[in-house]
Amino acid sequence: MQNNKGLLIVISGPSGAGKGTICKALLEKHDDLFISVSATTRSPRAGEVDGVNYHFLTKEDFISKVESNDFLEYAEVHGNMYGTPKFKVEEMLAEGKNVILEIDIQGALKVKENFSEGVFIFILPPSMEELKQRIIKRGSETEESLMTRFKNAYQEINYVSKYNYAVVNDEVLTAVSKIEGIIAAEKCRVDRIKDTILDSKEGLIHEQLYD
Ligand code: 5GP
Repeated sequence: MQNNKGLLIVISGPSGAGKGTICKALLEKHDDLFISVSATTRSPRAGEVDGVNYHFLTKEDFISKVESNDFLEYAEVHGNMYGTPKFKVEEMLAEGKNVILEIDIQGALKVKENFSEGVFIFILPPSMEELKQRIIKRGSETEESLMTRFKNAYQEINYVSKYNYAVVNDEVLTAVSKIEGIIAAEKCRVDRIKDTILDSKEGLIHEQLYD
């Protein structure tokens, strides 16, 4: 017995908390997951590929997509624009895929207004010192951008209470298995599956007796 519409899972957390690594590991393990590729006006980092990591757009193209209502949400983050393409997310959810949006807090709060049934997960670093070291080690930021990201992190952590779950990323595999547990539990919530249960009462009882 399965509820056939996918879950919308929103993952946020400060820069350096490890959201990207966690999402990549989840994607490698689960082929029923889809990670939305955002659009952004920021320049690609070394190794980033257009259409894979982000859709890299000019400011003009980004604004034109905002005007044609192509984004589920969009926000300015660290001085650049980021947005979630609406069409693909809706298509994947309808196909029964669990869709992950790895987006900032402003975006997550906007999504929450329209998708209160979404699952909102906040990734925390083990400590602020560890967070700083991770951003420095990544080596992709200028001194100025590093300071902005670190200052923002202090503010962002206050928003954890707006989320349904908080996962501390002290070890990637542990964090991944916690998120797998959250997804599994959310899929069993009665308010998500009660129609399916009522529609298939006979089959359900059969499954419980004979499986
Ligand atoms: P980065 O530049 O490090 O890839 O991402 C910076 C921030 O932008 C991260 O917090 C990331 O979660 C957020 N972000 C990425 N894509 C989107 C998006 O589509 N919408 C919003 N609101 N934030 C995003």
